[in-house]
Amino acid sequence: MSQPRQLITDLWIPRELGHQIAEEAKLFRDRWLETGGVLMGYTNCSSAVVTALVGPGPDASHKRNSFRPDTIYQRAEIAAHFERSSGLDTYLGDWHSHPTGGAGQSWTDRRMLARLTRDWTDGIDPHRPLMLIVAENEWRCYCAKTETPPRMLPSTANFADVMLRLTEKN
Ligand SMILES: [Zn+2]
Repeated sequence: MSQPRQLITDLWIPRELGHQIAEEAKLFRDRWLETGGVLMGYTNCSSAVVTALVGPGPDASHKRNSFRPDTIYQRAEIAAHFERSSGLDTYLGDWHSHPTGGAGQSWTDRRMLARLTRDWTDGIDPHRPLMLIVAENEWRCYCAKTETPPRMLPSTANFADVMLRLTEKN
């Protein structure tokens, strides 16, 4: 099992991958639907660097107020990328879009991140995943402040804002 990750305060996204996320979010926003995917990369102390994206998958569910990824597809892609990178790139977290409104966490988002934080412990998926929320004019990223945020009443106080930084190159 991997070591619990420390609190991530900075998420670095190469401009090209940031652009890809924005394009995918827009494609679904035009149909008033949510979409999302997985952020892969590596961490260095309190920074996380994105090196690759995994898409929603063919059996993902895209709705107006919810998005459920095709986790079978995603787990296979995560494992394949992990192998290709010789174990350097791991699962960092998920992103999803909000086709309307801002990038604040909904109650469902907080519950989901709390659950991910507790459950993703099978080696390639370290604790404390990130949740990036992409709205039309606002992007925000969140990380659980503790390794085990409460499952039932996850308040905004349980999650820290992560600073987003764009980089020119990988
Ligand atoms: Zn959401």
